Amino acid sequence: MSIDTSTIRIPSVLLPSDGRFGSGPSKVRTAGISALADAASTYLGTSHRQPTVKTVVSRLRAGMSQLFSLPDGYEVLLANGGSTLFWDAAAFGLIERRSEHLVIGEFSSKFAKVALNAPHLESPSVIECETGSVPPLLRPDSSIDTCAFPQNETSTGVACPVIRPPGDSLVLVDATSAAGGVRFDANATDVYYFAPQKCFGGDGGLWIATCSPRAIRRIEQIAASGRWMPPSLSLPLALENSRADQTYNTPALATLFLLAEQVEWMLEQGGLEWAASRCDQSAATLYGWADASDFASPYVRDPGSRSTVTGTIDFVDSVDAAEIAKVLRNNGILDTEPYRKLGRNQLRIAMFPSIEPSDVEALTACVEYVVEALATA
Ligand SMILES: *Cc1c(COP(=O)(O)O)cnc(C)c1O
Repeated sequence: MSIDTSTIRIPSVLLPSDGRFGSGPSKVRTAGISALADAASTYLGTSHRQPTVKTVVSRLRAGMSQLFSLPDGYEVLLANGGSTLFWDAAAFGLIERRSEHLVIGEFSSKFAKVALNAPHLESPSVIECETGSVPPLLRPDSSIDTCAFPQNETSTGVACPVIRPPGDSLVLVDATSAAGGVRFDANATDVYYFAPQKCFGGDGGLWIATCSPRAIRRIEQIAASGRWMPPSLSLPLALENSRADQTYNTPALATLFLLAEQVEWMLEQGGLEWAASRCDQSAATLYGWADASDFASPYVRDPGSRSTVTGTIDFVDSVDAAEIAKVLRNNGILDTEPYRKLGRNQLRIAMFPSIEPSDVEALTACVEYVVEALATA
């Protein structure tokens, strides 16, 4: 059967106010872009070693501390490269000998592979669980000095509780898509790391990590042991530069600016509790709609493990999710395709704080319209 899907027009009354539902890069708020445009002539294209830029870095570091209610002694580190580079940096600067990884999808498996392939580390312990199901809690034995798990596995839409495993290993939480949209207790983490292009609605290319005093001691101990590390991945250098509100090498100034604006926006609105509640509201709408639908259902069976920031919705075989995503795209609703390697008949919908809950509701109405139109085409 071949349908000319390009002729399907969603009525404008049904359309969301903004069509960006991608899980990263994600919607960037217009207010942030306008503020950047206003500041541009004295900010963009100026030295990152001067107060104009360092003030922005200072604002974003202070903003993160406040947003996450960081306990005394926790510090905000940042450097170029995004979360993927942070895994490499962690293999050099945080894992002492052996790590344990919870692998529940593509992103968590990538960090485990970094540790597996690092010649200076022992083979990691990898706890895998079937994608989409309830993740087990880690129970590291005494050979483990570092534990790693994601707070939100973006490839599948599974959320993990942030709980400190038993023992005294460092706890590294991949919060790339959760930070700023999901509640957590920083006391349960030693390193909570993320990038700006998800909940913080900024641009990619930067990693940010909140580090406990224990994590900082670990960074310093490994450095003192003389372990070789490439300077661009060196956490001691990141620590030293972050404390001076700088990055080791030149950062993208627009990215820093958008991030500072976004964290201050969240704080003005009511902080993490406000942002997480907004995501909860969007998630209740999306999963509520899918639960009630006879052609769609939440991919993650256990309601408690369903992400409130990246929703994954399966469709019955007779409805082609790829066709829906294509028609949505033709109508200006972007990036609802599932994670490419998951290979399911699914849509993935970001519900980050920048995305209006009413737009998630509008999106469900648009999907209903498209399914109907595809059935009768
Ligand atoms: C997006 C994402 C990453 C990768 O982030 P980059 O900044 O592109 O390196 C890692 N982990 C999770 C959970 C993600 O969602």
